[in-house]
Amino acid sequence: MADAQARRGRVLRGINAIYDVETDAGTLRCRIKGKVLKTTTRQYNPIAAGDVVAVAPDPSSPGTGMITGLDVRRTQLSRWNRKGRAPQVIAANADLAVCVASTRSPPFRPRFIDRLAAAAEDGGLEVLLLLNKCDLDADPIDLERLEDFRRIGYRVHPCSAATGEGIPGLAELLRGKLAVFVGQSGVGKSSVLNALSPGLGLRVGDVSARRDRGIHTTVNAELLRTPEGLEVIDTPGIRELMLTGLELQDLAFRYRDLATYAPACAVAACLHEEEEGCAVRDAAGAGNVHPDRYESYLRALAELRDERRYAHG
Ligand code: GDP
Ligand code: ZN
Repeated sequence: MADAQARRGRVLRGINAIYDVETDAGTLRCRIKGKVLKTTTRQYNPIAAGDVVAVAPDPSSPGTGMITGLDVRRTQLSRWNRKGRAPQVIAANADLAVCVASTRSPPFRPRFIDRLAAAAEDGGLEVLLLLNKCDLDADPIDLERLEDFRRIGYRVHPCSAATGEGIPGLAELLRGKLAVFVGQSGVGKSSVLNALSPGLGLRVGDVSARRDRGIHTTVNAELLRTPEGLEVIDTPGIRELMLTGLELQDLAFRYRDLATYAPACAVAACLHEEEEGCAVRDAAGAGNVHPDRYESYLRALAELRDERRYAHG
């Protein structure tokens, strides 16, 4: 049998279709074997950090491996890759999505968090909203929206990589979980990971210089294990998160506050736009759904429509 020598392993990182796979016999550099992983729908990346795969030795290249199979994912964090015009799996099999944000430099972007949380929950991940740079003064408008995240049931954990505040508490929240760290460039994701585990030595960048050089586009997600016993997937800073793989009618159910009102809409297939008797729009009007969350939903809905046009047209 061809797979007699196959072993299972965990994908640590992948760059240009070459994957580092951790097996019980060490880390193997692997490529994907032929058509094994062909799927019916087009994908930006067939395999992501965190995936569990079957690997066999590559007869044509001693010391390297071939990925011959992919386990069903327990969870996945995905987004629509606009450039690649296809869904992209950011991380596979993570338990927790740590959405890293800051209120100053770069400014707080709650609508980015809305989408990230929706994508994470759609993929079966728990969500933690990590508010870094809490040593800096926050804008009251940002604090109000943050408070709303708490109100609708998200866990918000403030911390500062600079002062160390909240870092031990964060370590506790991560214990025993595979956590994927996601955020816009410059929010301090690398700094937080370094604060959790100084041995990681991740590069910390200057926000503006980073933007200029566009460094965030050159690195890929990577599964890291620390001597402190933490398991995290670090991801490149992302500028935008477009949702993917959702039916239009399901979107509101991934906005957990909207989801509590959506079943009461008069129209069965309500998308909560201009429909008559829309309970979601009413809730936003009455302040039971934060008006900015509702606006955020409408924009995400418009983007999902656009994505479908790309995917099919
Ligand atoms: P990343 O792009 O999200 O990985 O962000 P970095 O970790 O590279 O940090 C971006 C910038 O924010 C750097 O100049 C850091 O020194 C700064 N920074 C990171 N964490 C904090 C923090 O807790 N407080 C303050 N004031 N600055 C921070
Ligand atoms: Zn509605």
